[in-house]
Amino acid sequence: MDYPEINKNIDDYATSPNLNDLKQRTDNWSWEQIENELEIPNKKFNQAYICVDRHAEKNPEKLAMIWHGANDAIENYTFQQFREESNKFANAITKVGLQKSDRVFFFTDRIPELYFACFGVLKAGGIIAPLFSAFGPEPVAERFNRAEGEYIITTPNLLSKIESIRSELPSLKAIIVISHRSKQSELGNVLQYHEIMKDMSKDFEIVNSDREDWAVMHFTSGTTGLPKGAAHVHNALISHYATGKYVLDLHEDDIYWCTADPGWVTGTSYGMFAPWSNGVTSIIYEGGFSARKWYEVIKKHNVTVWYTAPTAIRLLMKAGSELPKSMDLQSLRYIMSVGEPLNPEGVVWGEAAFNLPIHDNWWQTETGAIMVANYPSLNIRPGSMGKAFPGIKVAIIDDNFKEITEPDVEGQLAVKPGWPSMFRTYWNDEERYQSRFKGEWYITGDRAKKDIDDYFWFIGRDDDVINTAGHLVGPFEVESALIEHEAVAEAGVIGKPDPVAMEIVKAFVSLSEGFEQSDELRRELIGHCRNKLGPGTAPREIEFIDTLPKTRSGKIMRRLLKARELGLPEGDTSTLEDD
Ligand code: AMP
Repeated sequence: MDYPEINKNIDDYATSPNLNDLKQRTDNWSWEQIENELEIPNKKFNQAYICVDRHAEKNPEKLAMIWHGANDAIENYTFQQFREESNKFANAITKVGLQKSDRVFFFTDRIPELYFACFGVLKAGGIIAPLFSAFGPEPVAERFNRAEGEYIITTPNLLSKIESIRSELPSLKAIIVISHRSKQSELGNVLQYHEIMKDMSKDFEIVNSDREDWAVMHFTSGTTGLPKGAAHVHNALISHYATGKYVLDLHEDDIYWCTADPGWVTGTSYGMFAPWSNGVTSIIYEGGFSARKWYEVIKKHNVTVWYTAPTAIRLLMKAGSELPKSMDLQSLRYIMSVGEPLNPEGVVWGEAAFNLPIHDNWWQTETGAIMVANYPSLNIRPGSMGKAFPGIKVAIIDDNFKEITEPDVEGQLAVKPGWPSMFRTYWNDEERYQSRFKGEWYITGDRAKKDIDDYFWFIGRDDDVINTAGHLVGPFEVESALIEHEAVAEAGVIGKPDPVAMEIVKAFVSLSEGFEQSDELRRELIGHCRNKLGPGTAPREIEFIDTLPKTRSGKIMRRLLKARELGLPEGDTSTLEDD
């Protein structure tokens, strides 16, 4: 079914959009002008200064964060408190021994101290590397070692996972444990957050920071090899601020909620940097997904701008549009989604449930910030990711890396390098970083097309990376975990289409001599992967097969497994065999 365009009439809006004419804004774009709005003092090009201290100086009593605990406890923090707590942590971590550009990993629940510590580390010159707390020990160890991390900040409930790999982390200098509002217990050879914070000063002179100093590292999965640490610099904040203003449409009085965890890039770029650089109050909800609970959070805090993900929207759709209607969520004025394709049904369902369409946008870990978006003032073509952000050249290119100017032709989605939040390397893997640039383009790894009016339409990944509930999973990481089990001779992992999560992780396994296929073994293998990798990354389905299709050079042909799974033609396998 074709969905009609949703027309926007900005005169109907109670809040006039910051971007009311995309073309005019694009024609007159200047990154320098954006930077001037931030009034960054010399030698303080620091994300923590711009997000926290700048607002504490101007508007100390304004609420920066409303924290809503999983047990419904509420805590409010002003920009001034934020400054003081992050300063104390900057003093504490400096005393512990942090040196400039040390990698500090975060493996915690979404608690207020996580955010204070992140900004404290940035003030002290360190790099923050947040990880998703549902990871198993193996992904944590891989990522930590790849980045040669120095510190891990965690919570008591997650500490046992770290302890189980501690001896495998040669560069680890200290573990810091945060006990949020609970009594500190004896935890062994770790530092306790509240102990090291105790006598720390509330003042801290931010280390000299340059725009090109390292700030944030996020891990992302590729087709081959283990996850790569995409490293970002303080300069990225220019993009976070600009997209916060013009895509998230943040206004001074907004109450903003981004549902993403900081373990994923959306949770930092848009859970921390975009709202706070715009001086906006942000909700941090500690709990997980529940339709009713999420609506209660919106209602309780009068959320105005809401940024979430397609899997969540599909789950909300399952719960029906009567529920949000019955809860009278009048405060909402603008809803966005990112991470996976948003089905046109999802866009339109927003209108039925909230009287608001849902605005899809596109970006990835490497781009650091939104590149393509549906803006409040732009007519929506349901199913399209929208148009390029001003100042950014996004294109469809052919296999020779030449731009395709003809409309509606499928090709690779590419971005012209040079935008402020572009990643600057894959940590300890410069070669792989360089391989992402071809001709004059950064190659995103996605396929898409652009229509005659410059709307982009997502087609699919150009590689074997699996997108499950908006989280990228590298098949190699899962295959590696599987073959560590004695019963597994070989494994090939693909994304199997799923109506809610878009894809689920499915593994094809051939067994070692002496092992028999059984449901019990299947369950054991799934359990083995869940323990090692965590529930989001482990396969949800396992199929036993006698032998896996391989190229002559021995690579598993995942594309063939996928074609067979989908009942599609297997294509010209002769080329694959020569791969
Ligand atoms: P990540 O680096 O984990 O943020 O994942 C980025 C990838 O997620 C992109 O390269 C796309 O494959 C996918 N993605 C993100 N946003 C969208 C979107 N709006 N529509 C389709 N795919 C998306």
